[in-house]
Amino acid sequence: MSIVSLVKCEDYGQKKVDEAVRQSLELIGGLGSIVGRGQRAMLKVNILNADRPEKAVTTHPALLRSVIRCVKEVGGEAVVGEASGIVYKDMERAWRASRLKEAAQEEGADVINFQKVLKVENPKNKMVPTLHIAKEVLSSDVVISLPKLKTHNFTLFTGAIKNLYGCIPGFRKKELHRLAPRPEEFAKLMVDILCAIKPKLAVMDGIVGMEGDGPAAGSPRQVGVILASKDLVALDAIASYIIGYDPLDIDITRVAAERGVGTANIDKIEVRGTPLDEVKIDDYELASSINVLLKKVPGPILFILKYLAPLLLKVEPQVDPLKCTECGACLEHCPTGAMNTGSDCPVIARKKCIKCFCCQEVCLERAVGIRYNWLARKLKM
Ligand code: SF4
Ligand code: SF4
Repeated sequence: MSIVSLVKCEDYGQKKVDEAVRQSLELIGGLGSIVGRGQRAMLKVNILNADRPEKAVTTHPALLRSVIRCVKEVGGEAVVGEASGIVYKDMERAWRASRLKEAAQEEGADVINFQKVLKVENPKNKMVPTLHIAKEVLSSDVVISLPKLKTHNFTLFTGAIKNLYGCIPGFRKKELHRLAPRPEEFAKLMVDILCAIKPKLAVMDGIVGMEGDGPAAGSPRQVGVILASKDLVALDAIASYIIGYDPLDIDITRVAAERGVGTANIDKIEVRGTPLDEVKIDDYELASSINVLLKKVPGPILFILKYLAPLLLKVEPQVDPLKCTECGACLEHCPTGAMNTGSDCPVIARKKCIKCFCCQEVCLERAVGIRYNWLARKLKM
């Protein structure tokens, strides 16, 4: 049976986080059962963009510090890495703004911007037979995912597995997104990546999560927990359940469980530490996807609406010209080339848009919002 530890932690006071992380690891058998003496542990943080920790976009530096301390205590070497969603030249800014570089270096861990790749071929992959994954990730003895608990307008939820997308450096992320434009296809791709990387552990920063228009434009929301598990599928299932999803509605979690990579059925997951009901939140604002809106439709109407949803429901990105500084980041990142230069802000070619919301993720000005048509607005209320 998969085990997920759940430990309450109210804020980012370093002592409290140290204690909660330690307890969460002890509850799943201790870090010594995962990282051996002298082994190199790659800590994959979630940076995404040049945002400050209080924005709840990035893994909090206090959690990173605690995990580095635990790795050192068991005799391992911690390194911290990321190839975030932003253009590579801005990585330095993102490391600084998130305070993750400062935290890593003060704790004595090297920081790595993923650049070089190794080919991983697997004919059993469902989306692409060959993946190009960061060399530093594949050459580490142990990979540990350190995600932030957030909603996600494309995948509904982002956690331990989705965080691994940052192990694909540079332009390749965009190309893969183009090859997997629908959420279900993207989920298959993420499971291909999970199988290639084989992380041994995830420790999730769920102290303050993000609700609403995640993973970058939502609002911080107190959840007050740290989760840890050797089964990343089980960890994501429990975390998404806490904020109000049915874990099997999250494509990545469901597809991973179907492929036998982990457990998504929460009845088959042993939760140790705080009882689930004590931390479950009923009014967490979920992501704005058509599938989430359809959940609010009664059975018989849903049957008809499901097929007409793409025509009747519109949930699309929209650029606010008053906030846009015309930096061009969204144009550079749009995987389908749907964004074009306009007179005062980028213009979106609707037919090319796959609604991945990458443009919203990369916009530091928060100039990309979401446009709902009448029916979508009604269902959202
Ligand atoms: S919408 Fe945002 S990312 Fe795109 S050009 Fe404007 S400011 Fe830059
Ligand atoms: S316009 Fe935005 S949502 Fe549409 S495909 Fe491009 S990045 Fe994705």
